[in-house]
Amino acid sequence: MLVTVVTIFPEMFPGPLAHSLCGKSLGKLWNLRTVNIRDFADDKHHTVDDSPYGGGAGMLMKPDVVHRALTDALSQYEGIPKVLFMTPRGRAFTNKVALEIMEKPRDGVIILCGRYEGVDQRVIDHWKATHGMLEISIGDYVLFGGEIPAMVVMDSCLRFMDGIMNNHESTQHESFAVDLLEHPQYTKPAVWNGVEVPSVLLSGNHKAINEWQLEQAKFVTRSARPDLWLRYSGDA
Ligand code: SAM
Repeated sequence: MLVTVVTIFPEMFPGPLAHSLCGKSLGKLWNLRTVNIRDFADDKHHTVDDSPYGGGAGMLMKPDVVHRALTDALSQYEGIPKVLFMTPRGRAFTNKVALEIMEKPRDGVIILCGRYEGVDQRVIDHWKATHGMLEISIGDYVLFGGEIPAMVVMDSCLRFMDGIMNNHESTQHESFAVDLLEHPQYTKPAVWNGVEVPSVLLSGNHKAINEWQLEQAKFVTRSARPDLWLRYSGDA
């Protein structure tokens, strides 16, 4: 799968994605290309931004320059990739959205990273209409740019790629897989700092262990995420 990041900071990639299972599978199960938006500016200063019409603070990314960069990104795909724009105004990114992005048939992903005060609305509307561009937010806060959000989305989506995880089953039991947070987990030593691992986990009784884990998952979800608990318990 080819992932293309369209950004004014290509040197930020692969960054953290070069490590661990993402990094090991880079170049094998997935490939990364960056497109430097600045390369598509048409003046000698490589200008990618300008002041907003109507006034207001900050600068906006220019539609013509961003459009040329996205068109270059698209030129490397034979099929139809998913096109994402990272923006605080987008759909909230969740496990469900990651699964949708990774749905088959899948011909790769293009991710546009904004900077400054964002991107001229016309280029967003054009790519939404012509390529189904999805606007995605990683949370209700504002970051300086879309590069870290793009990394978050890539990291999360790649966990659902066949063959990338040593133990694919773990994605099915993790937090959010069924609107529940994960139960607490323990490893050796059996006693640490005077605290014992819950005895049921040492019992070898798998039915009892499963029941205990489910009850713990429900307790954690109810306490930490009442919104998720309402969804899980069907009251929403
Ligand atoms: N003026 C914009 C607003 O109020 O919605 C914020 C622009 S932000 C400073 C610059 C860029 O960072 C955005 O275009 C977007 O690409 C990225 N960004 C910032 N926060 C984000 C978030 N929560 N989720 C996704 N992208 C974000």
